[in-house]
Amino acid sequence: MISFNQPPYVEEGIDFIKQAIDAHKICGDGLFTKKCSKWMEERFKAQKVLLTTSGTTALDMAMLLCEFQSGDEVILPSYTFSSTATSAILGGAKLVFTDIRPDTMNIDETKIEAAITDKTKAIVVVHYAGVACEMDTIMDIAGRYGLKVIEDAAQGVMSSYKGKALGTIGDFGCYSFHETKNYSMGEGGAILINNPKYNMRAEILREKGTNRAEFLLGQVDKYTWVDFGDSYLPSDMNAAYLWSQLLHADEINQDRLASWNRYNKAFLPLEKAGLVELPVIPDECEHNAHMYYLKCKDIDERTKLIKFLKEKGVAAVFHYVPLHSAPAGKKFGRFAGEDEFTTKESERLVRLPMYYRLSEDDQKQVIESVLSFYNKLEG
Ligand SMILES: *Cc1c(COP(=O)(O)O)cnc(C)c1O
Repeated sequence: MISFNQPPYVEEGIDFIKQAIDAHKICGDGLFTKKCSKWMEERFKAQKVLLTTSGTTALDMAMLLCEFQSGDEVILPSYTFSSTATSAILGGAKLVFTDIRPDTMNIDETKIEAAITDKTKAIVVVHYAGVACEMDTIMDIAGRYGLKVIEDAAQGVMSSYKGKALGTIGDFGCYSFHETKNYSMGEGGAILINNPKYNMRAEILREKGTNRAEFLLGQVDKYTWVDFGDSYLPSDMNAAYLWSQLLHADEINQDRLASWNRYNKAFLPLEKAGLVELPVIPDECEHNAHMYYLKCKDIDERTKLIKFLKEKGVAAVFHYVPLHSAPAGKKFGRFAGEDEFTTKESERLVRLPMYYRLSEDDQKQVIESVLSFYNKLEG
């Protein structure tokens, strides 16, 4: 069976983990944690990057830093992972779901303004498949209404919009290093803080409410409990695993892009024949090949395709039942405007195997299986 995902691994990973163990420093904020955050700050031109225990807790931190008041609303797409929504609930906000664009599956920037009320405090954008949302328009709306912008860039590490790294455009950016993402530490993530006024509060929040960060910098002489906090610091062993991949970040990115481009070239004839739709990458976006997906005619055809691929030894999957139609989505939120594309488009989407070092032979088997499904369909 060709698996849908394999976690990224590079050989030095195990050596770095051993180094962390040998240094007798395996809790958070050790050598490798520092190396990873510094690398990201430099590479992505980010004001401040803090590693977290997951992409979800990076989002939790961003929402808590926004200090929502009771009744405040955040606007987010319905087509996303539950973390985008649960973090906003933890932050005390109500959810207002909006529709997506059918081409990129990202939040439809032209439908955001109609969803704004006098309670709206933030817009959460999700850069689906590592392809950027239309950020100029979104930042302009946020500026005019005085809203915060949180980028769920869990899938967008190494992607950019008009040359800017995803995660560095809004007030906060959130990365995931889960094993299903392009770069991984098992479970982990990072928050990118783009306004220095949040730096200290973020450190306190991440360090169980203490001023440990200030204390270590010698800025205060007492290490004490100063505010509400939680524990969002990942282990340095996990950071060591991530560090090995950041050292090979371009190689991993190029490998994935090569697979993505092979898929895209192979399926172009199916699109030309009107049988499927392929992902759209707008000109201003550089993507990271996080995902390769096809859009079938409808949900029935998708079910048949996934079953057919399974019989051919290929694991293909779909995801994201729109949040507004999920039990918790109904409880915590409402959909603003019309669900023109969210449900319809999500039901047609199928994701194909995509990971670092997907072999060309395996990929050929995936491609041939998809092509033979559509040949049979036509014949
Ligand atoms: C993976 C993902 C998350 C959650 O990241 P974890 O590290 O698994 O907590 C959040 N949002 C999106 C869009 C994701 O793809």
